[in-house]
Amino acid sequence: MNRNQVLPQVELSADPSALRRVDFCAPQSYRGNGFLDVPALPRVAQEASSVESGDGFDWQIETHFTQSPGSEPRQILQLGLKGRIHLVCQRCLQDCPLDLAEERQFVIVASEAEADAFPMEDDQQEPLVASQHFDLLELIEDEILLSLPLIPKHPEGTCKAHRSSFGESGAGSDELEKPENPFNILKNMKKNS
Ligand SMILES: [Zn+2]
Repeated sequence: MNRNQVLPQVELSADPSALRRVDFCAPQSYRGNGFLDVPALPRVAQEASSVESGDGFDWQIETHFTQSPGSEPRQILQLGLKGRIHLVCQRCLQDCPLDLAEERQFVIVASEAEADAFPMEDDQQEPLVASQHFDLLELIEDEILLSLPLIPKHPEGTCKAHRSSFGESGAGSDELEKPENPFNILKNMKKNS
């Protein structure tokens, strides 16, 4: 029997506080969409150089259960993000608009142990540990933060280097030679995938 046909699909509220407590242990799937402005995303707001009108992110979430032979049905979560934020251009040190459009897929697993055992080489989907109060707002924030460029810049040739930015004086070369931390490498991999 296909469980999809019997499970109810629940509409997610677009209210940011409701997104902080979503029950992924309940036998139901979800769908929903909405818009979050930058101030509604406190950790993203910290990265923003300025907030112009219209800055923020449209999000779209849909979950469904899959069934592979011989195993429990698994809930798959698809997240779409599209929006704009302003960051400081590292060449001219002025505001630089950045448009993001991301699609991510996750598998909801029952425990941390199951998440740890999840195959690392699976870059199509990542595990999320189920909870009765899952924080979807935090997930949306995490994915936006992971999508931001490490060194935001205007397109090549459209701005001039600020005097204090590196490249001219060689200052900052120390920073470039630092061994890259694994988190940043992961960020780059995700960005290029
Ligand atoms: Zn610039």
